[in-house]
Parts: sequence; C-alpha cells; structure tokens
Amino acid sequence: MATYETDAIVLRAIRYSEADSVLTLYTRDRGRASAIAKGARRPRSRLGGRLQPGTCSRVTLAEGRGELATVRGVSSLQPNAGLWTESGRLRAAGHVLEAALRTLPDGDPNEPAYHLLGNALGLIAREPPSEGPPRLDPLVLGVHVKLLVVAGLLPVLGSCAHCGAGPPLPAFSAAAGGALCGECAGGADPLTLAAHAALAGLIGRPLGEAREVCPPHAAAGVERVVGLVLREHLGVILRSAAAPASPRGPSETFDSGH
Ligand SMILES: [Zn+2]
Repeated sequence: MATYETDAIVLRAIRYSEADSVLTLYTRDRGRASAIAKGARRPRSRLGGRLQPGTCSRVTLAEGRGELATVRGVSSLQPNAGLWTESGRLRAAGHVLEAALRTLPDGDPNEPAYHLLGNALGLIAREPPSEGPPRLDPLVLGVHVKLLVVAGLLPVLGSCAHCGAGPPLPAFSAAAGGALCGECAGGADPLTLAAHAALAGLIGRPLGEAREVCPPHAAAGVERVVGLVLREHLGVILRSAAAPASPRGPSETFDSGH
C-alpha cells in the first residue's frame, strides 16, 4: 500500500467499533481526506490524544482500496491544548470545524484554506474566549467569511450587485450576488451599516484583528450574510445558524472521543 506524509488538521472524529476512530482530515497536500485511526480509542493509544478534532499534526497515511486511508503515524505540530481548558473555546472551534467540513470539498488541496484553519484554531486556543455566544465570536465569523473567500463564494459588497450603484447599500441578497442599493432592494434582507463595515473588515484584515473590526452589534448581521451565501451556493445550513437558541454543543461534529 502506498503511504504518504502530510500536515493535517483533524476536522472530525467519529467512533468506529470498540477501539477505532474514523477521522475527517483537512490535509495541506490533498485537501479533505478520510482516514481510520486503528486503536485510537484505547486508553494508552499514542494516536488518540494527537488526533483530537482541532489539532494539527504531521500524519503518515496508507492509502487503501477505497476512499478510507489508514493512519500509520502521527506527530503533533500544533496541539491547541487551550481548546480543552474552556468550553466557549471548544464550541467556537466546533463552529470553525463544522464550516470547514461543509464548505471545503473532498480531495481538493487548498493551501490558503489549510493555513486559515490552522491560524484560526491557534488563535481560538490562545485568546481569551469572547463574551457572547461562541457562534458569534468574531474569530468564528472571520473564519466563516474568509472561507467564503477561499471557496470563491465572496459576494459583491462594494457596490450594488444588481445595478452597480455605490453606497448606501441597505440590503443583501445572495441570489442577486451581494449587497443592494435602496432602489434594487425589493424584498431582500436588510444589511446594517455595522454589518457591512464588519464584513469588509473581516475580509480585508488579518484574522487576528477580527475582534477589532467586528463589534458585538455587527455580529448577527455578519452571521446572517454568511448563512444566506452558504444556503444559496452550497445548499448548506450551518448547525449553529440553523438553531441559534439551542444549548446543544457541537458534540456530533466535534466529538472529543472521551
Ligand atoms: Zn441597485
């Protein structure tokens, strides 16, 4: 069986049989890939602890007959241990991993996406958790907006997507391709000035500045725009956006395996 080494971020770990985990990885060299980690759920496994969702590792993968590779070796690159010290951070990371799972296609290498995820998870693990709900953490929203950029789904925001007029642009329609002027707004969703400015900042500024460019009163509007774009182009509704009132954590997506 052919083996290869690559840097990988664990997006998801699903329990498989008594002792194994099936992982969804985002690899630097091959994009999204699935792999089985045999024995990873045994208490003394050397694999298990290094393959939690949200960690970055150098992995050796053996290609199988089907789509599922087998993990042969792993060395930790960025354990992001801070994710497990605070539940808000863990939930924020879960929202990042869910968006990556649902927007990045299988087997399509995208180095900017890999670096974006690694950077985001590192920041979430290091920084103090945000005050509000983790799904509205500017770091989470920043990753969601930047994933739209790397996935080629960025809407038009600088001028009216329908007629080209300049600001003010008080509405947004994913079907029309972006922000809309008052004349073209029709029944489109409202877009506040604050959300518009925050979107521009999250796109244009480094992720580390997300909290400066996306104040709390802009967050829900940014989340709404991201949700509209994902639904229009990918048919995806993120769990966080679909059920904002639910206290349920991202347990299914972000199975810690404990
Ligand atoms: Zn217009």
